[in-house]
Amino acid sequence: MESASAKGDYLNILIVGAGIGGLTAAIALRKQGHDVQVFEQSALARETGAAIHLAPNANGILRRLGIFAETFGANPMERVMKYSATGDTERSMDLRETNKMSSQSFLLTCLQPWLLAHRIELHNQLKSAATNPHATGKPVTLRLSSKVIDIQPTTASITLEDGSQFHGDVVLGADGVHSVARKQVPGGNVEPFSCGKSAYRFLVPKKAAQADPATRQFVETPGELSIWYAEDRRIIMYPTSKNSVLNFVCVHPESESAAESGDGWDQTGDRDRMLQIYSSFDPAVRALIGKVDPKTVNVWTLLDMKVIPSWTYERLALLGDAAHPFLPHQGQGAGVAIEDAASLAVLFPHGTPREEVADRLKLYREIRYERANRIQEFSRMIGESRGKNKLDMYGFSHYNFGHDEWDNST
Ligand code: FAD
Repeated sequence: MESASAKGDYLNILIVGAGIGGLTAAIALRKQGHDVQVFEQSALARETGAAIHLAPNANGILRRLGIFAETFGANPMERVMKYSATGDTERSMDLRETNKMSSQSFLLTCLQPWLLAHRIELHNQLKSAATNPHATGKPVTLRLSSKVIDIQPTTASITLEDGSQFHGDVVLGADGVHSVARKQVPGGNVEPFSCGKSAYRFLVPKKAAQADPATRQFVETPGELSIWYAEDRRIIMYPTSKNSVLNFVCVHPESESAAESGDGWDQTGDRDRMLQIYSSFDPAVRALIGKVDPKTVNVWTLLDMKVIPSWTYERLALLGDAAHPFLPHQGQGAGVAIEDAASLAVLFPHGTPREEVADRLKLYREIRYERANRIQEFSRMIGESRGKNKLDMYGFSHYNFGHDEWDNST
């Protein structure tokens, strides 16, 4: 049994899961001078994922932590286009244009840029920032192939699959939607369930789109996010990775891709089935999604979960998807995990007495709970809005703007 107890004025912090939330928490807590170990079940050798939104609320925090997503290829979001399924323009919104009411452009009202990043590139940056020996604080210890099977919140201890145990002062459960840590908080023994929809997720190389006159139009505006709506399905497209790829998320009733859908992130989808499901859409968009390498199409069931009453128990706290798995309709999954992580670092400055850990974790829950639940509720509403009301502009709720809510909440 390895032991780790607080010596001096720093805490020993054990984080379960090296996803976006766990790594951000590790970087932020390391900067506060704590000793941080992260336990990740995978070898991180097969990281998958397409693109994710880094809205102003997330970007403000990442920048304070020294992570500038535009330096590793994230595209700025500058325009939103809404089309009918058959390709008629229904709305065009240039975020750089001056709004007559506020005499400012939308982007100028945000405190930080809104970026469209590749998940793997973001994840790599977070990993190297956490383990970089030259950054502030002692480098984070990243333990790969270390699946956590049990957590004891009272003693802040964890047990790995191979039987080894580790003790700390705090355990943070950042282990995603199928969290083991969640089972240890009161009322947390709940399972996520399908919301009735699935999504194909994949990238199309920009070069492939450019080579075909039928699809060339889609790569002309680098900062454009486009949505094609039918009654019960939609296609969302935006560029990322220095505008070298187009990211697609195609959302439809789960029953139509039931044979292939699963709740993992690396479930392979069938390109031909996808083209059938979207057969009523504009031929140009279908030509574009048909350019995907069939081996790289993923499909996943969109999971929802009952709101749980608590995120903490004794010396354990949940963050990110472990606490509140979001539907993706607002692009806030990574953003709110990043907010949770930063809140924990603010609540645990260097010198935090060990005796205060449980109370500070309760405070963390008080600060974050209502905001996260409101975002989840809003994401559900956007998912159901079918493009017919003002909720339809993907991601455009005030939660994303990065205004003073973040500062108030800390
Ligand atoms: P996650 O990013 O899911 O991270 C959880 C981490 O915990 C994972 O690394 C997992 O392996 C680890 N873990 C789980 N259980 C254990 C355990 N028992 N012991 C140790 N470690 C454990 N979102 C998108 O919007 N678009 C995407 O393309 C996309 N791709 C993804 C690909 C992968 C491989 C993963 C893991 C997630 C993906 N997501 C994607 C989800 C998105 O990253 C999260 O919704 C969001 O960033 C919140 O992050 P999180 O840290 O809470 O959870």
